Amino acid sequence: MNDLYGRPLRNLRLSVTDRCNLRCEYCMPEDDYVWLPREDVLHFEEISALTDVFLALGVDKIRLTGGEPLLRRDLAALVRMIASKPGLNDLALTTNGVLLANQIDALVAAGLGRITVSLDTLRRDRFKALTRFDQLDAVHAGIAAAHRVFGHIKIDTVVIRDVNDNELIPLLEYGKQVDAEVRFIEYMDVGGASRWSPARVVSRREILEALSRHYGPVDAIEDPASSAPADRYALKDGTTFGIIASTTAPFCRTCDRSRLTADGMWYLCLYATRGIDLRAPLRAGASPDELKDLITSGWRGRDDRGAEHRLALGERRAFVPVQDLLRKDPHLEMHPRGG
Ligand code: SAM
Repeated sequence: MNDLYGRPLRNLRLSVTDRCNLRCEYCMPEDDYVWLPREDVLHFEEISALTDVFLALGVDKIRLTGGEPLLRRDLAALVRMIASKPGLNDLALTTNGVLLANQIDALVAAGLGRITVSLDTLRRDRFKALTRFDQLDAVHAGIAAAHRVFGHIKIDTVVIRDVNDNELIPLLEYGKQVDAEVRFIEYMDVGGASRWSPARVVSRREILEALSRHYGPVDAIEDPASSAPADRYALKDGTTFGIIASTTAPFCRTCDRSRLTADGMWYLCLYATRGIDLRAPLRAGASPDELKDLITSGWRGRDDRGAEHRLALGERRAFVPVQDLLRKDPHLEMHPRGG
């Protein structure tokens, strides 16, 4: 099933909670947040029922996210419900890693296929300043546990000027030690990034320049068939890494992602200000066919190219004003819709 630009419905990001145990300054920098009402948060059976409908319509990749997905009690039970569904080729998890060491074995036993850990710095003081919690050791333990179980993993790093842009090389070297492919993400002006400014974005070009100054020429790895957001590169020693240039070179053209929030709002773009409510019809007893119709008409009418529209703006600042909109509607934040 394709949208108005011929992009297939394939990739679903399932946010299982809007809560997080870190307060990263580029994602949740404010002192207080409006949380999704607990009674609105979908039960695992409801998530599973919606997943069936999405899989029947062509989704074959699911990524569990949040907030911090490992804060959701007994996440492994949800993984078990989803992992063996027909049509699912890829079940992944994105986590900040703080709670990972204790949960990894249960998650893998339940059928989790892949893992990405977010890590922006290797320096303890900086980690604390950036996330407001002194949890770097716990993240290292989580990464070590993931390495033990999966072998190869991914590490996502948001690069911010004058914050961690002098750690590109240490992070790549760390990735080599733990068999992780590091992906550098350009700082995005999404909902919750209320401290974003263009000057703080380190572009793909700058990242490549810094790495080739240190390592010598960097080769692009061509993969025209890929709809993955990261452009991949290889160093001379064979080390690979990725760059997600969502801010300076958006990948809207091939974007096959949609996002389901923990309370069942379906968003067709990270920048969309309105979603499609799937919880209300589900709880009102809609049949799978009725839900299919709702999702089908949503996707067929999709013309979102949010990141490209942001790029086309001449003057750019934080996406949603905190004082009014973000405070009123938590859905406009990044953390309920999972990054
Ligand atoms: N808590 C989990 C984690 O830390 O991976 C999952 C949710 S988090 C919102 C998903 C990803 O979004 C993380 O890799 C995070 O770094 C990224 N992210 C959050 N805000 C961002 C921003 N303003 N620009 C770019 N990436 C961002």
